[in-house]
Amino acid sequence: MSRVYNFSPGPCTLPLPALEKAQAEFIDYHNTGMSIIESSHRGAEFKDVHVETKALLRQVLGIPEDYHILFLGGGASLQFTMIPQNFIPAGGSADYINTGTWSKKAIKEANIVAKANVVASSEADNFSWIPSQEEMQFDKNAAYLHFTSNNTIFGTEFHQFPETDKPLVCDMSSDIMSRPIDVSKFAMIYAGAQKNLGPAGVTVVIIRDDFAKTANKGLPTMLAYDTHIDKDSMFNTPPAFGIYMIKLVLEWLLDQGGLETIEAINRQKAELFYGAVDASEGYYRGTARPDSRSRMNATMRLESEELEKKFIAEAAAIGLMGLKGHRSVGGIRVSMYNAMPLAGIEKLVAFMARFKEDN
Ligand SMILES: *Cc1c(COP(=O)(O)O)cnc(C)c1O
Repeated sequence: MSRVYNFSPGPCTLPLPALEKAQAEFIDYHNTGMSIIESSHRGAEFKDVHVETKALLRQVLGIPEDYHILFLGGGASLQFTMIPQNFIPAGGSADYINTGTWSKKAIKEANIVAKANVVASSEADNFSWIPSQEEMQFDKNAAYLHFTSNNTIFGTEFHQFPETDKPLVCDMSSDIMSRPIDVSKFAMIYAGAQKNLGPAGVTVVIIRDDFAKTANKGLPTMLAYDTHIDKDSMFNTPPAFGIYMIKLVLEWLLDQGGLETIEAINRQKAELFYGAVDASEGYYRGTARPDSRSRMNATMRLESEELEKKFIAEAAAIGLMGLKGHRSVGGIRVSMYNAMPLAGIEKLVAFMARFKEDN
């Protein structure tokens, strides 16, 4: 078997030990004579998986007891509309920080059902930076403040979270579990699993009970957080396989030493990569302002699109896959989620030096 270094932005690389464990128990889960994906979601086996996955999330991320943990379908994208439908009161509005494609999509959905105030935006500079606290113009009547902690496409990340007295709601899809955070600062955190947690198809929603209780009434059943809280994510069939995979990924994360350790490794990976960019004397050009650089998705350009194509092709030929930038930005994107080992970045950086010499 030969595994490549997979730098894809999502779905993306997952820890090999988690994949191997899934493989080993795939056909006959714990001597039940069936796979976990063939088991009833109301049966004892899946029930244990569900309980353990929630407990692991609570433990690893430090989620206080007064937060519910939900596993929903529809991707992070469904949250873009559920949040304003549930939490903006009739005639009201919410504050949004616009830092990239995903923020914009969230803003668009909020404007369909209510009103979004954009309190800060880096759109005029092609989303190359993260606004500071001083640059945000909050509305005192806003129902909540929404932001995207890591901008998967433009390669920027909040290194300090915004401060507000409103409920803070965060799309953490592409950097959840990459560093320790203080969950108690948030009213709600959500993340599509397919970046740092597991496979596509499940969205983790972490929501404080007192915030959940403020939700609007009379929504369609599936769109109301109340429904999923009351039924503990079991109102309908939950994304069972995704939940099971999150459990295996979190077990791996704990084996690594948890979030402090993974943050140190993520920092090392990012410093190595950006160090190589900065040392290249403009040959590799980072697109994000240095103080806003993401540790999960690093974006850069080369002198021409032709050279970028060559870079991507030659990297792929030696097992460095998925380096093409998003179509809206172009260039190169290096996604280095938790499961990307330091050795992958070392190999990439060595390739970058060779490529620069040869071209
Ligand atoms: C990938 C991504 C999304 C979209 O997730 P889906 O699960 O495809 O809906 C939303 N927000 C961020 C920050 C992302 O990286």
